[in-house]
Amino acid sequence: MSPAAAGHVAVAWIGRGDAAVALGDVCRRLEQTFLTEVREEPLRDRPVDAFDARRGQYESTRILQWLARRVPPGARTVLAVTDQDLCIVVLTYVFGEAQVGGPAAVVSTARLQAPGGDPPTGALFEARLVKECVHEVGHTFGLTHCRNRGCVMGRANTIHDVDAKDATLCRECRVTLATLQAKEAANVP
Ligand SMILES: [Zn+2]
Ligand SMILES: [Zn+2]
Repeated sequence: MSPAAAGHVAVAWIGRGDAAVALGDVCRRLEQTFLTEVREEPLRDRPVDAFDARRGQYESTRILQWLARRVPPGARTVLAVTDQDLCIVVLTYVFGEAQVGGPAAVVSTARLQAPGGDPPTGALFEARLVKECVHEVGHTFGLTHCRNRGCVMGRANTIHDVDAKDATLCRECRVTLATLQAKEAANVP
């Protein structure tokens, strides 16, 4: 059975205004990596309840809870991209977060560009965005952090960690992904 039987990946902008970044590259890389149909599907509302006014950031875990209730019909995973800065309780910021094996993932562009506010364009920015999106969507399919050098599933705490890894899954993660997707397609827990 094809992995796509478990549903497509929906990609949605949930930042300020209209999408400030082009998501076409992200969609293509997700399609190539997860061998699953990927569609841009806009979400009408925004996760206003996830804003932490004290920190001036959005709590990514609360965004995921909000997002998990907005999975488009037929979708396996919904990836939200925002320009708002994200944090979790114990870290000053995160590039993104995902529910491991669950439906929701979020990635922020806020720290993927040079400080001082270069516009969110250019090859380096695009490459970083693609890596973070592949990483978080990888988590939703059940992949965990990988120690193999260069693997996109490597943990990234700083922008240097992001730049040091590739946009692709290592061989081991590709095998694991295929197993996880086959189990899901066969509906085996
Ligand atoms: Zn991760
Ligand atoms: Zn790996």
